[in-house]
Amino acid sequence: MNTRESESPDRLDLAPEATFPAAEKKGFWKKLKRGLLMTHTEIIERMEAALDGRAVLDENALEYLEESLIASDLGVETALELVDKVRSSSRREDVKDLERMRQLLADEIATMLLDAASDGAGSMLKAPAVTLVVGVNGSGKTTSIAKLTRWLQSRDQRVLLAAGDTFRAAAIEQLALWGERLGVDVIRQKAGGDPAAVVYDALHAGRARGVDQVLVDTAGRLHNKQHLMAELAKVRRVIDREAAESLKRTLLVVDATTGQNALAQAREFTKVSAVDGVLLTKLDGTAKGGMAVAIARDLKLPVWFLGVGETPDDLVEFRPREFATALLG
Ligand code: GDP
Repeated sequence: MNTRESESPDRLDLAPEATFPAAEKKGFWKKLKRGLLMTHTEIIERMEAALDGRAVLDENALEYLEESLIASDLGVETALELVDKVRSSSRREDVKDLERMRQLLADEIATMLLDAASDGAGSMLKAPAVTLVVGVNGSGKTTSIAKLTRWLQSRDQRVLLAAGDTFRAAAIEQLALWGERLGVDVIRQKAGGDPAAVVYDALHAGRARGVDQVLVDTAGRLHNKQHLMAELAKVRRVIDREAAESLKRTLLVVDATTGQNALAQAREFTKVSAVDGVLLTKLDGTAKGGMAVAIARDLKLPVWFLGVGETPDDLVEFRPREFATALLG
């Protein structure tokens, strides 16, 4: 096992600085490593086993490596591609040592992620903006809204929350509680109300109070796709009409612990709604951290944030190079 949690890489490539206050840099690595610890430990242990006692990196070892990458939910095609890269490198040089293999894989994963990269978390800073936060119930949507609020507040943005999941009374209460703790207003109606009406109120309140960002919680009833689609379309129409000058974006919250199932759900969501970015939650509770790569490559959706715990501070921006380093470094 090689977890090296407290160690920081020597080289930090963390541009753009604008989205990354200096005070947060230190915490970033700690949080990222903590979030990826289970995945990192599992991959490294399996890689060690693949190489164990071998003089050469033979096909058996490569097969073992492939299995370990698939097990971390990187996606089958991505795992095959990565193993192919290691195979061809091992023809050019002797890749039988773990360090070299880690380095090769980390570089390849970073390159893959950079190819799929967008502005990432920085996109969230553009204002004024209205963000619909979507995702299945239980994925961590409400908690993620609290985390995003804290993240935006620490970048001097004024936030207003809209309790648009009117179906679940508990969701409204939970959002109201977060609002109180974080010192932001939450626009809400009684359970059973019309989400579009909540959003209408929120947009007007937001304008009157001069907020930069309106974050809208939404229903996560994916099993009733037609209904959800109609509900989101209605909410969007209200936003287009009432906040024509604001940017509009949709952030999809995905629970990493559910692995392939979460990927299938995310794919379903892209049929219900356009998605601009993904917030991958609960990385701290799973060895399926490779999901971030699968989302970027298989679903072609940009990952913006990673959720690494249950408090409003447990959020890190997704940065391809740092992610690859924390995964394998
Ligand atoms: P929602 O139904 O999608 O709004 O989900 P919630 O925000 O209520 O979260 C469901 C559960 O997941 C709660 O117990 C949260 O504390 C927990 N949770 C959310 N995000 C994370 C995370 O990043 N890490 C961990 N370990 N738990 C999380």
